[in-house]
Amino acid sequence: MNAVVIGCGVSGLSSGIRLLESGIDTEIWTREPAVETTSNVAAAFWYPYKVYPEDLVLNWAAATYTELVKLAAIADTGVVVRELLEMFPGSAAQPWWRKIVDDFQRFIAAQLPTGYYDGYLFACPVAEMPIYLAYLQRRFEDLGGTVRIRTVDSVTELLNDHDVIVNCTGIGARELVGDQTMIPIRGQVVRVSQVGIERILLDQHGAAGLTYIVPRSRDCVLGGTAEPNDESLVPNEQTAAGILTRCIQLEPRLANAVVLEHQVGLRPGRPGIRLEVDRNVTHGRLIHNYGHGGAGVALSWGCADEVARLATAA
Ligand SMILES: Cc1cc2nc3c(=O)[nH]c(=O)nc-3n(C[C@H](O)[C@H](O)[C@H](O)COP(=O)(O)OP(=O)(O)OC[C@H]3O[C@@H](n4cnc5c(N)ncnc54)[C@H](O)[C@@H]3O)c2cc1C
Repeated sequence: MNAVVIGCGVSGLSSGIRLLESGIDTEIWTREPAVETTSNVAAAFWYPYKVYPEDLVLNWAAATYTELVKLAAIADTGVVVRELLEMFPGSAAQPWWRKIVDDFQRFIAAQLPTGYYDGYLFACPVAEMPIYLAYLQRRFEDLGGTVRIRTVDSVTELLNDHDVIVNCTGIGARELVGDQTMIPIRGQVVRVSQVGIERILLDQHGAAGLTYIVPRSRDCVLGGTAEPNDESLVPNEQTAAGILTRCIQLEPRLANAVVLEHQVGLRPGRPGIRLEVDRNVTHGRLIHNYGHGGAGVALSWGCADEVARLATAA
């Protein structure tokens, strides 16, 4: 069998690796190289953020957690495991994904910054995306795969020459397969210099808006926003100022950090992830793997396993 995966973000690369590991001769065709994808902008900590349906997501998230923890033990993957502290202004229920994560513990108000009432801490794998995507591409190529820069206009035409097509086009699926249920969810982040921060901090319920601090080897990613239906890729100055203010309030050491870059990405939002064989296609096999919203990294390996299963079930 031979396959073409469309897309070179985290979904395409992980799927490509799993297909090759299943013995399917695989190429990736992509409009943009990996460094220009939404995936490259991701803060990329493991968290099933705004993705549905929860029962399926739970399995994909669990498989990915296990795989990322394994990768954290290997040099040069860009993956590490850090503590993540999520904070709440009111009382918080146990998260629905609690059983997946290691070292989970509750925090009470006295252990949290002023203004927070409840919290929890867990061991969270996080990928430094520029390094991680390069690692994935290297691994894909070492397995015999090829990445080609090519824009695809019609998936059905590709099926004339290939047994399996895997659609990993993120928000591009809206045009490629005319999926009108997809919406871009704009995310803006500020990249600043490292100032000795180790722990990921997250507040997604505070009145000031979504706030997260993700330390990496040489910088920190500060976020964020989640703006449905906004497609502007131009960083907004006021938004950046708000992100910096909120993050410095959470972690005062960031006041000494140097701003390195402003980045924007469009999360591929969809009411539910589309991971299935397209039943409307009778000649060849078209598998969709897109619509991962704010959790494409956190679900990547679980979804890639499923892609390989669907491809080999023929
Ligand atoms: C600011 C921000 C922070 C985030 N933080 C996290 C986080 O902490 N954890 C997490 O898990 N997720 C996070 N995400 C979400 C994550 O980035 C996405 O879910 C993920 O990147 C989606 O990956 P993908 O490979 O499906 O799509 P993409 O990375 O968008 O890749 C799509 C690929 O398809 C190609 N393509 C599109 N159309 C065509 C075409 N017609 N022909 C050929 N190629 C085509 C593109 O060139 C690209 O290579 C964040 C996102 C943003 C914006």
